[in-house]
Amino acid sequence: MTAQIIDGKAFAATVREKVAGHVARLKADHGITPGLAVVLVGEDPASQVYVRSKGKQTVEAGMNSYEHKLSADTAEQDLLALIQQLNADPAVHGILVQLPLPKHLNEDLVINAIDPAKDVDGFHISNVGLLGTGQKSMVPCTPLGCLMMLRDYHGSLSGMDAVVIGRSNIVGKPMAQLLLGDSCTVTIAHSRTKDLPEVVRRADIVVAAVGRPQMVPGDWIKPGATVIDVGINRIDAPEKGEGKTRLVGDVDFDSAVQVAGAITPVPGGVGPMTIACLLANTVTACCRANGLPEPEGLTA
Ligand code: NAD
Repeated sequence: MTAQIIDGKAFAATVREKVAGHVARLKADHGITPGLAVVLVGEDPASQVYVRSKGKQTVEAGMNSYEHKLSADTAEQDLLALIQQLNADPAVHGILVQLPLPKHLNEDLVINAIDPAKDVDGFHISNVGLLGTGQKSMVPCTPLGCLMMLRDYHGSLSGMDAVVIGRSNIVGKPMAQLLLGDSCTVTIAHSRTKDLPEVVRRADIVVAAVGRPQMVPGDWIKPGATVIDVGINRIDAPEKGEGKTRLVGDVDFDSAVQVAGAITPVPGGVGPMTIACLLANTVTACCRANGLPEPEGLTA
């Protein structure tokens, strides 16, 4: 038997539809249009693609998108001044500074200059602390998307053994907090974990967020487990022609799909959920800013 494929692309479309519905109601009932400001410093090609696609999907959901493109040599104080301006702007409900920033800029300083209520990436230390103490916060988009897919597939996650591979601030750690919040027994594995295969074999839920192509083979997976593959890795694909590449996850899909109960593919799994959750966070931030009830099913 092969695993059920968790279709992140289709799921993200339903999240975007819900967001658009809330946006339409905010406009019709309250005359409010949620606004998302995205700040891009420099010309990193991957970041440019992400920013373009964030702007496009924001507008498609009926929200206002404000793009601020700054040159790679922007001074830190100028970037901080822009963030202060966006913090004070009532038309802006969400602020996202596209990472990575050029080396001369201090990422922690910049992220922590964002008003936590507008920090739709959920990276501000206040939001990290609020999430860690089980309080209402802005939740990082990628782990929020993973949680939504897990809840949709399982209903309750209570009592399940979850292993998160990777301990980054943007994926691994907040993912572990969210699973703990849903009453999983959580293990965070990382590059120094002893006997990773045995650790992973205990898991009812495996979330792989490492950045190493196909490192988790099917024989590490407990039969019937749910596998969420966050990794996005580009590898050579000579079978497609000379110089061609393709995207793969951190899980070896072909072997894992034979053992798992459910699995997210790459591409088409976690990836599309990330921007959908950014839109969801923007609507949530807008509702909170206006003292309105939060949209249901779009928060942690
Ligand atoms: P990161 O490099 O910040 O962290 C990787 C983590 O993996 C580290 O904590 C490290 O301890 C751990 N690790 C490294 N080698 C390991 C090993 N051999 N065994 C076990 N653990 C090991 O990466 P990140 O930002 O968390 O991203 C992880 C992956 O997820 C990347 O492929 C990235 O492209 C992808 N990603 C996808 C999305 C999305 O929208 N789908 C969003 C963010 C990141």
